[in-house]
Amino acid sequence: MTWLHTLTLGDARVTSLTDGQFRLDGGAMFGVVPKALWANLTAPDEDNRIPLRINPLLIQLGGQNVLVETGMWDRGGEKFDAMYAVERDETLFTGLRAVGLTPNDIHLVINTHLHFDHCGRNTDALGQPTFPNARYVVQRQELEDALSPHDRNRASYIPDTFMPIHEAGLFEVVDGETELLPGLSVVPLPGHNLGQQGVVLQSGGRMLVACADLMPTLVHAPYAYNMGYDLYPVTNLEVRKRYFPAWAEAGAIIAPPHDPHAPFGRFESAKRGYTAVPVFGEQ
Ligand SMILES: [Zn+2]
Repeated sequence: MTWLHTLTLGDARVTSLTDGQFRLDGGAMFGVVPKALWANLTAPDEDNRIPLRINPLLIQLGGQNVLVETGMWDRGGEKFDAMYAVERDETLFTGLRAVGLTPNDIHLVINTHLHFDHCGRNTDALGQPTFPNARYVVQRQELEDALSPHDRNRASYIPDTFMPIHEAGLFEVVDGETELLPGLSVVPLPGHNLGQQGVVLQSGGRMLVACADLMPTLVHAPYAYNMGYDLYPVTNLEVRKRYFPAWAEAGAIIAPPHDPHAPFGRFESAKRGYTAVPVFGEQ
């Protein structure tokens, strides 16, 4: 294993796992930011795609194993894998095994949202829940949107990743900010879509935030670095301006879901807003 990075916050252990690498169009990943700027931060390949990773998070506290995000859809076949240049050099399962866990040991799954690169392994090859002993936490808004998509968001939702969970009654549907365990809460982060949620861990006087696609990689820290994929860019900007200063002030560790190089980061003040510097845990 080369990716596993672990941090200890008070009684909690947080491990960044990976479900492999993929690539997306650099222009789509940086919205209205000119290529002349973003290409200096992350070099595109010959097809203008930039390298990304899928980085689920394992949070262990109070005897509970909590998995934030379940990785990349893996039943799309060769065409799907080629389109997104998926490389499963390591997987969610090799990572769990490396820390001595099996899918049966997961008590709680948090789906930040139901896009296929965030909840791809909610179900297994047989279409059954991958984590049979877990409740899967999702925002009501997100489940509703996934169940009745429109033309602009339909491609992001693959019913096989969430319908079996829905039909088995394993979703724990929450509305707004909700404490799941002492010190562990979900908080709505709309903008990328309406029903996205982040995860806030507070333990031993420290804070860690799994920020989902509010900030997909560390280079997306400046306020204006929204994605072309964001359905509500102005809302996204407002949510960033509300939370980034609070997280910076708290010295929070941020876990972005798609950074190709670093599992965690921390905000530093910049001319207009913030940049984010990498933080690496123990390996
Ligand atoms: Zn994503």
